Amino acid sequence: MEFTALDEDATFPRIVLAKTSILSACQKERDSFVNVVGIVIWIGTITVTSRDSGAFVKKRTLCLGDDSGHSVDLCLWDLKAEEEGSYIQERIDSGVQPIICVKGGKVSDYNGKSLSAIGVSTILIEPEMEAVADLREWMTLYYNVTNFIHLSTSSSRQTVSHTTTLSEISNMQLKVLESSPIYRVIATVKEMKTDEFYYNACINVVNARQCGKKTTRTADGWFCSYCNIESANMEFKYALKMCIEDSSSHVWAIAFQEAAQEIVGMSAKELATMRDENYPAFSLLIDGIRSKIYNFKIRSKLEKYQDMEKLRFYILGLET
Ligand SMILES: [Zn+2]
Repeated sequence: MEFTALDEDATFPRIVLAKTSILSACQKERDSFVNVVGIVIWIGTITVTSRDSGAFVKKRTLCLGDDSGHSVDLCLWDLKAEEEGSYIQERIDSGVQPIICVKGGKVSDYNGKSLSAIGVSTILIEPEMEAVADLREWMTLYYNVTNFIHLSTSSSRQTVSHTTTLSEISNMQLKVLESSPIYRVIATVKEMKTDEFYYNACINVVNARQCGKKTTRTADGWFCSYCNIESANMEFKYALKMCIEDSSSHVWAIAFQEAAQEIVGMSAKELATMRDENYPAFSLLIDGIRSKIYNFKIRSKLEKYQDMEKLRFYILGLET
């Protein structure tokens, strides 16, 4: 692994990583170690599998694509499945497809070709690196028009499916147990929860990332039970509940941060300020949202609440 410092006055990014494209990584022999930078196309749920030794281990697969036009399964194990995996999932649920850097990923022959993030591997999520900035630039131009050639033969492959109807996705319950598929739905917004559309997110930084969990109001600030600290400030983050409707049905779905911002056209804080200070303008904006037809990207997820399983819908963003 090799890092080169750029000139001191180069403002951003500051480190360069000797990386391999996904295509060349997969042409290497098994057990080779590679550094790759890729866009997370989808991430699966955590599963528990047993090792040859009989020990149980947590595993989570994601699909990584890059500007070589190829994609591959990357398996995250144990803590990485939980920690980095959950953070990547959060980013995707809020409408962002994160670019990650895998340092020291192991090439495997499992399912055709795949990569594995093991104990010695490091996963950096959206790091400030030249390779990440380059890939982000490529992504804005070509991602939507690229048909990635998938180098793994996994059966759990998830892609954005063809455009479907709301009644169809509501009836998918049995099929979504393992995967959390993404659909495209053309629908209108029937209703929006305008009383509570944001939460007060924790601004504390843990391991170089903002905690972002919900805080509770205290006498002097905002308390995060996750960090167990109180901060003087918080950040408004969207959790916008919308009832969306097409000719077949309607469902309630939730849009988090970036996805909600894309629909509303402003930040949660700006919207809250508008509601409190200029209600007529706020109403007009909401009416405007309700009068449009959107091409939504939606993920359905079967979630458990008090032993009851419920299918929940997340708006990931708009298809352009
Ligand atoms: Zn926190």
